[in-house]
Amino acid sequence: MRKALVAANWKMNGRRSANEKLIAALVAGLDQAKAGAVDVVVFPPAVYLADVRQMVSGSMIELGAQNVSLESLDGAFTGECSAQMFCDAGCGWVLVGHSERRAMFGETEDVVAAKMRAALDADLSPVLCVGETLEQRQGGALEQVVSSQVVSALSSLSVPMLSRVVLAYEPVWAIGSGLTASPEQAQEVHEMIRAVVAGMGGEELAQKIRIVYGGSVSAANAELIFAQPDIDGGLVGGASLKAEDFLAICRASADQAAVG
Ligand code: PEP
Repeated sequence: MRKALVAANWKMNGRRSANEKLIAALVAGLDQAKAGAVDVVVFPPAVYLADVRQMVSGSMIELGAQNVSLESLDGAFTGECSAQMFCDAGCGWVLVGHSERRAMFGETEDVVAAKMRAALDADLSPVLCVGETLEQRQGGALEQVVSSQVVSALSSLSVPMLSRVVLAYEPVWAIGSGLTASPEQAQEVHEMIRAVVAGMGGEELAQKIRIVYGGSVSAANAELIFAQPDIDGGLVGGASLKAEDFLAICRASADQAAVG
């Protein structure tokens, strides 16, 4: 049985007072929501990590960073933060390869692979984001694009390292667009990703590794998406900024865990 994971990617949103209200509501709401069945991780902007760390202290909510430097040694890398620094700041998690970073900040597959290694070397668990654009899907390249993203990011990692990775399938056309992959479309890709992982690290690893779905997950669609057998939770952007919506998504995941 894979434990579900629901992650909140705040992106470049939030202010101290709004963060405080949001986290307070999540802490209170999650306690009521038999959420022990689910790992819940928030990814605030780096500048708020120390604040949010204090706010989630003593709760079940874990902390992650939205980005990490591929450099491991301290030094002259203005504006960067290393994986060791995020660990030191209380993070257990980091997002790697989000489509916004690939598209807007030029992160290549080599950069993504280097960030995966930097995170794992520092004992951060990476959430590796992969997904196709609409043009790639319509042009029949979905499988090639997604499997290449998975293989290039994971191929230099040992099986013990791979077992600490979470994968997030996030079709680019569904992120922030209000369009969602249908539960069947998402399941099909998750199953394909699991087969790629099996080819790399064996069937046992493939059955253990968590693959979450991201792309306009909402309180209204979470239940059907999470009911799919290869979908182990969600990476949530927009809806994670509203406590009520994010709590409903966590509950949908916990309910599914209870059923499954
Ligand atoms: C994301 O940024 O990873 C994401 C899935 O965003 P949204 O839920 O807003 O589509």
